[in-house]
Amino acid sequence: MSNPLDPRPAIHAEATKPARSTRDWQQMDAAHHIHPFSDMAALNKIGSRVITHAEGVYLHDSDNNKIIDGMAGLWCVNVGYGRKELAEVAYKQMLELPYYNTFFKTTHPPVIELSQTLAEVTPAGFEHFFYCNSGSEGNDTVMRITHKFWEGQGKPGKKWFISRKNGYHGSTIAGATLGGMGYMHEQMPSQVSHVAHINQPYWYAEGGDLTPEAFGLARAQELEAKILELGADNVAAFIGEPFQGAGGVIFPASTYWPEIERICRKYDILLVADEVIGGFGRTGEWFAHQYFGFQPDLMTMAKGLSSGYVPIGAVAVGKRVAEGLLAAGDFNHGLTYSGHPVAAAVAVANIKLLRDGIIERVKTDTGPYFQNSLRQALASSPLIGEVQGAGLVAGIQMTMDKASRKRSDDPWGLGNHCRDHCFRNNLIMRATADRMLLSPPLVISRSEIDELVEKAAHCIGLTAKDLGMA
Ligand code: PMP
Repeated sequence: MSNPLDPRPAIHAEATKPARSTRDWQQMDAAHHIHPFSDMAALNKIGSRVITHAEGVYLHDSDNNKIIDGMAGLWCVNVGYGRKELAEVAYKQMLELPYYNTFFKTTHPPVIELSQTLAEVTPAGFEHFFYCNSGSEGNDTVMRITHKFWEGQGKPGKKWFISRKNGYHGSTIAGATLGGMGYMHEQMPSQVSHVAHINQPYWYAEGGDLTPEAFGLARAQELEAKILELGADNVAAFIGEPFQGAGGVIFPASTYWPEIERICRKYDILLVADEVIGGFGRTGEWFAHQYFGFQPDLMTMAKGLSSGYVPIGAVAVGKRVAEGLLAAGDFNHGLTYSGHPVAAAVAVANIKLLRDGIIERVKTDTGPYFQNSLRQALASSPLIGEVQGAGLVAGIQMTMDKASRKRSDDPWGLGNHCRDHCFRNNLIMRATADRMLLSPPLVISRSEIDELVEKAAHCIGLTAKDLGMA
């Protein structure tokens, strides 16, 4: 007997799903839904693709297409789609304690367990964690923690953040100010103060005649110049993604991060790693800064923390900052959903899956296999100048001339053109200007990697053909 006051039995009722056509969905979407980072007038003319369900590394749309997801959603579905373990944990947690806050001298088991778990999987020195709902909020939180820390150290003048052009740190006002995306800044007359940008370590596009190593060093040394310009007593922190994700999966030369770290230590500037994309196994290490071999004071985390099953972000606070922060009195920052019990419980279950061999396999097996396969498949393409990446993330640089590294006159047009081929071929591959990006779920198998690489090479081949290159 169903109880009209108890909605639970309806949760599984397939019959409650309306049967709608793609056109119905698109019309309703166009009528009421504003999409992120979209030109809605243009999008509504063609209609959005409607993703209805997914499993493993495959998405399905409302026209019955099966699409291989070379981007793990937005770089987040690390454990792949359709994990019953995570759904069951969320269901159970919602029945037990769907919500409670952690503001007023209270806490709850899921957030405690998650904090303990994160202390185990993060590198030595990270023992404290603050929670939020997204990467953007994580970077806002980094700023708040940093300011509070320096104030507690008796150095309230240390206010400036230094970040990079073409870095991405989110889309809240603070996150987007920290980020170095000109097209976002143009639409933001209000930005937070005390943020300065230095140039990025993007050798292919900006390295000129320097070797990648010399260029990496030169770009890192821009940090020192900026610190001296602002005055070391005024600079709070440097923040960077270990590899730039949204900026094009740009891997800096091996000289870059050691020099950044040296400069931060020399002038007593906090070093913040934005691990929102790189964290939780993407490079085959738990965190991307471990791949590059440096030690941040703070880390921003989101995405792979819950594999995108529920929204959650966090800031990992290293020993020195945690000691200062914890001794500095009231910290006036928090969000209704900081440490949300359902999100925390799902994150714990997600990390368990990652620990049970997923990340290890990326490091020792599927990561190297993917990197080799992709490089081999594209080696003879006249359009591809370089492939960068590690583990299960790659940036594929298109070029008009391999020898001179000449770029297209319309890099965004070129990337979008290639992406359109991917779209038609049921492959999700992202474009940042003239770089094509791949970042599949970490559970992808060797045979699925074969399919992904084959499709990517095919779409790049079609693009080359359209340019008259092949
Ligand atoms: N930092 C980095 C490095 C990111 O890639 C992103 C999102 N792609 C963010 C922060 C912002 O995360 P969110 O979209 O969850 O706010």
